[in-house]
Amino acid sequence: MSYYNISKNDIDTWYIREMLGVGCFLFEGSEKALLFDTGFGFRNIRKVIDKLTSKPLVVVNSHGHTDHAGGNTQFPQVYIHSADLKMTEDAWQKNQRDQLIGYARKNHFLARPFLYWLGRSRPHIYDTEYKAIEDGVIFDLGGRRLTVTHFPGHSPGSIILTDEHTQTLYTGDAVNSGLFLFFEGSPKLKEYAERLNDLAQLQGYSKIFDSHSKNPLPISFISHYASFLERATLDKSQITNFPNGEKDVYVYKEEGIPFERDFITVHFTKDLII
Ligand SMILES: [Zn+2]
Ligand SMILES: [Zn+2]
Repeated sequence: MSYYNISKNDIDTWYIREMLGVGCFLFEGSEKALLFDTGFGFRNIRKVIDKLTSKPLVVVNSHGHTDHAGGNTQFPQVYIHSADLKMTEDAWQKNQRDQLIGYARKNHFLARPFLYWLGRSRPHIYDTEYKAIEDGVIFDLGGRRLTVTHFPGHSPGSIILTDEHTQTLYTGDAVNSGLFLFFEGSPKLKEYAERLNDLAQLQGYSKIFDSHSKNPLPISFISHYASFLERATLDKSQITNFPNGEKDVYVYKEEGIPFERDFITVHFTKDLII
């Protein structure tokens, strides 16, 4: 079994999914290509990309978490929102790594691949130069424009890429069926629901690809998830064993069948629910 599973999710968009359950997207225009995220970076993702496109490559992070930015050092230059720049520093990456190892140890069987991979080193080819991006920046790939929408919450510098060409939002970890909102600076669930309702006003888009699911969600999922967050209460939630310093992480869940998901969930800390 290969570490990377490669498929096309649209005419000009590749989906490169790692064995550890995170995916990167490669978009091609007539002049340039854009890689959205670099994954954990335990293997050489650069080689994979070089086989798929020969066009000049722009690399952009959806946010600074280690499962999305871990492969950055395989590329000379990476764009990231300014609020997540700090996260990509090595010390932070090590903290995340320790957190993941703690999680893998506690969760035994299902998380065992993390233990194996986290013990390995990652290719470090470049002292990557970081370029800050802000809300509204447009990457023009030639006949294909990808626009940056800043969508903080899961992390301060999380972004969504909107692709008019395929009427798709690429949301990273900012919109999905199992949101993690238990990090420092995460907003209250109701506040995030308001942001989602604003996003749902976007016209001309039909679907969402997030970074951890193989199948897309319909655009209507955004407002559904906003109302889901408003229904979450502490007494209907359960404590999980996610490692998160001093704070307990709770999960609220509902069935996700209409959206071809077993469950829709949100993980949060209790200070975010009032
Ligand atoms: Zn993340
Ligand atoms: Zn992630």
